Amino acid sequence: MNLKKKYNILAVDDAKDTLMLLEFDLAEVGYEVFTAESGELALAVLEEQAIDLILLDMYMPGLSGLAVLKKVKAHPLFMKTPVIMLSASDDEDKIVDALESGADDYVTKPYIPKVLLARIKTSIRLLEKTLELESLAKTDFLTGINNRCAFENLASKAISQAKRTNLPYVMAMLDIDFFKAVNDNYGHDAGDKVLIQFTHILCECFREYDIIGRVGGEEFAVFMPNITVKNAFAACERFRLSIQNNKISTDDNNDEKISVTVSIGLSLRKNAEMSLEELFKQSDLSLYQAKKNGRNQTKINEEIKTVMLDDSCEILQSTSEDKYPGIDFQVGVGNVLGDEELFSEILVMFYEDHFNDGDKIQQAITSEDQPACKHLVHTLKGVSCSLGAMRLFELTKALDGAISVEDKASYQQLYQPVALELVKIVAGIKVKLADKL
Ligand code: GH3
Ligand code: MG
Ligand code: MG
Repeated sequence: MNLKKKYNILAVDDAKDTLMLLEFDLAEVGYEVFTAESGELALAVLEEQAIDLILLDMYMPGLSGLAVLKKVKAHPLFMKTPVIMLSASDDEDKIVDALESGADDYVTKPYIPKVLLARIKTSIRLLEKTLELESLAKTDFLTGINNRCAFENLASKAISQAKRTNLPYVMAMLDIDFFKAVNDNYGHDAGDKVLIQFTHILCECFREYDIIGRVGGEEFAVFMPNITVKNAFAACERFRLSIQNNKISTDDNNDEKISVTVSIGLSLRKNAEMSLEELFKQSDLSLYQAKKNGRNQTKINEEIKTVMLDDSCEILQSTSEDKYPGIDFQVGVGNVLGDEELFSEILVMFYEDHFNDGDKIQQAITSEDQPACKHLVHTLKGVSCSLGAMRLFELTKALDGAISVEDKASYQQLYQPVALELVKIVAGIKVKLADKL
């Protein structure tokens, strides 16, 4: 349930006149009101509509209020939605039953609008606080990204999904090199600033659907779904170089700049039963090797490398780029839930809509048409990400960034590699899908 200014309330009562009254009283103070005349209909509305609070009549023919309440509170998507029971009687035992079954409050009918509205407000306020606390509990206070617990939850879910779809994944453990020395030389506050800046770059370098978390003091983890080892390794190396080349200011005058490096250890899906614990263990081993080998590098430990050569490891056999140049086939197909036919149709559409984008962007740059530049490049960036054209995505992202801050001096230089990569991709699609074009 999202927090928003206008709250959606579902009123459920078999008495039409009560429903009309509720609708009137609630709408008057600005709530969006949905109504249902039975328990069955109420459950149907919940499936269709995001509801923030439910007003539920206790006695109804068919599915009773209590039965609906139990279903709502057992449903993973609705269990947090506050439910206020409406009861005609002041039957204490029934009210106790409802409260014990998870009702958040009750109001007796005929209700006093002022009282009902006050109780709704309280329930919603309570829910907001709970959601806020939940979000805080998942967030690392310094960097604002997932903390270890949230990272583990999200990565576990992604592992289960990969098991169902049989797609590969890679996990990276990242540890800043000699970070203790940063604290010792520049102070703890400067160290904190380095951690924050490190996180910004981390979030920029990986894909939107990669799961990123701070799993220790100066240790981070990235879970990359639908990716080959080769591409994950390349992504980590890009990040490692960004960190190495970035000088982080730790004071407002930009006087003091700190450089750090990072060591990265990878682990990957070896078989369907791979657990998160095992992944952490494997990436730790890889990380240890990166540290031992001199730091500032990305490593896959020797044991995994052996597995990568093992014929029994089906998921690592296909090289991702052999089908369409410039496109990570597994990522692209993964984005349409493995439907290869649909993916080739999407490639055809991409060809038709974007084969000439290189020329169009060049024209927009030459004629200094800033809105056209922005629109073309931004669209291409989004499409390339969903296609699995990851290099094109990175290149358009860089150009898009320059356009956003109107850094016109960089346009041409950043445009060249975009145009070349696009030509490569478009030519590849034309060769492979000639019959459909
Ligand atoms: P290595 O290359 O072997 O990883 O060396 P290292 O110095 O990075 O590793 P070590 O584990 O010895 O030190 C980690 C340091 O990270 C020590 C600790 O004070 C610092 N640290 C952990 N959390 C924070 C934090 O939130 N803020 C700051 N400023 N420092 C932190
Ligand atoms: Mg460490
Ligand atoms: Mg360290």
